[in-house]
Amino acid sequence: MAYDAIIIGAGHNGLVAANYLAKTGRKVLVLERRGIAGGQLVTESFGDGFSADSLHASAHLRPDIVRDLGLNLPAASARSPYVCLLGDGKRLTIDADPARAQATIREFSAHDAERWPEFVAFMERAAAFLDAAYRTPMPRLPHFAPVREGLPLAGLLWKLRRLGGRDMFRCVRAMSMSAEEFTDNWFESDTLRTAISALAIHGVTLGPMSAGTGFTLMHNWLNRGGFAHRPVANGIGTIAVALVDALKARGGEVRTSVEVQSIIVDRERATGVRLVSGEEIPAPLILSAADPRHTLLKLVGAAELPPEFVWQAQSIKLRGCVAKVHVQTNGQHGLPAGTLAVAPSIRYLERAYDAAKYGEISKEPYLEVTTNGNIVSIHFQFAPYALRNSDWNAANSIVEQRAIDTLDAHCPGFKASVKRTQVITPRDLESTYGLSEGDLSHGQLILDQIFFMRPLPGWSKHATPVAGLFLCGSGVHGGGGISGASGRNAAKAVMRL
Ligand SMILES: Cc1cc2nc3c(=O)[nH]c(=O)nc-3n(C[C@H](O)[C@H](O)[C@H](O)COP(=O)(O)OP(=O)(O)OC[C@H]3O[C@@H](n4cnc5c(N)ncnc54)[C@H](O)[C@@H]3O)c2cc1C
Repeated sequence: MAYDAIIIGAGHNGLVAANYLAKTGRKVLVLERRGIAGGQLVTESFGDGFSADSLHASAHLRPDIVRDLGLNLPAASARSPYVCLLGDGKRLTIDADPARAQATIREFSAHDAERWPEFVAFMERAAAFLDAAYRTPMPRLPHFAPVREGLPLAGLLWKLRRLGGRDMFRCVRAMSMSAEEFTDNWFESDTLRTAISALAIHGVTLGPMSAGTGFTLMHNWLNRGGFAHRPVANGIGTIAVALVDALKARGGEVRTSVEVQSIIVDRERATGVRLVSGEEIPAPLILSAADPRHTLLKLVGAAELPPEFVWQAQSIKLRGCVAKVHVQTNGQHGLPAGTLAVAPSIRYLERAYDAAKYGEISKEPYLEVTTNGNIVSIHFQFAPYALRNSDWNAANSIVEQRAIDTLDAHCPGFKASVKRTQVITPRDLESTYGLSEGDLSHGQLILDQIFFMRPLPGWSKHATPVAGLFLCGSGVHGGGGISGASGRNAAKAVMRL
């Protein structure tokens, strides 16, 4: 066979896994259905002078992965403030420097300003613990696991213990709490609690009053390294380019514009892939960075899997609810620098989420906005993949209009600066970016789909019932977000064979 391993999907996790395998001397081929590599880590042009980081606004691969793979990455820009837009021209600006943030928080509450440095220090420790958890191989619970499988988990629990009695308790308790309750334990100002709650619901189909948004707060804090995004100079896509270059230097190959139609299975073993073009490429090892439900039910197919496993795979919860609106302005948009969040109150955020429960687009959405020169990128929540009384052909313009009107209401004059727009709906996330049901994380980050339950209870070790087939994208342990953790974990699982 020409290849030792085929990786399906050139998102950052697929490329990280490919690099780790190529580093051991294996001959690796990455296959990507789009014309460019990078998955959600792409900078694209939408027309003359109109380019943007299409999806995720910033990215931080884990430093140990950057080191292991010897990646030559562009520096992230300096930390900018997080600006919560409250309505009636009021704002809460949270600077990355805790002392400066204290000064602005004090305008809302002296008590909260005093607690702020302790809160930031706690979040840093909690995020570091979560990072360690994402690196730790999980036991195959509820199946019987030999003692040696439990050892890494014991090491992780020791790390948790070392946080100290108080932080250990806070950390474990926070995971199951709602952002509303969690922030209530810390602060008295509704404004500050709202700013934190907005980060907690970013990218997930949950409201600030949903259980588990304490966990997503920690996850998102880890994913972006605090509150505000730090955009990558020359675009997020440069990270994907660095991963591809590193892979090629190791003898690996990346083929774009080739869609895998199916994984070839022979007597319960993966033996290669079949492309949409009809070409078949054999390999003894297949790693899929596409989402687990798509990989298992579409690329492998129910006929090749045990019935109970098929039932479990069908139950993976995918619930896309994010749209993106990129705006080319005349440069006079008047928006302040930093990451802006339209989040006037916790109730506002919860009502925005309520719409998604009923298959409707939020009339008053939660927005997160980043700017790059004259380009304004708006993250829009909630825009559910499955609309109740409409479809995405008709609803595209609704998202665009509500995004622009809402931002203009908070930053008057913005609308007048708009020249051109590019809307990416949950349907586009599926059809263009390959995300089933528009789910950004390849499976919601909810309490029953994390750690040893990601992607499914008993299958957190990246293997599948098909011998030689492994899962390495965001939908498995270590994902989501842009860290490379699930790609590295999967490659390590393969290397342990
Ligand atoms: C707007 C936005 C905001 C986000 N915010 C957050 C956040 O706040 N916190 C967070 O944790 N995460 C967030 N995410 C999610 C995060 O970006 C993803 O978890 C991560 O980028 C996924 O990376 P990946 O490499 O696992 O998969 P992807 O980048 O999705 O790559 C998978 C690749 O597989 C390819 N592929 C699929 N099927 C096939 C096939 N059959 N043949 C060939 N190729 C195939 C796809 O084209 C794609 O390139 C956000 C995402 C978006 C879009």
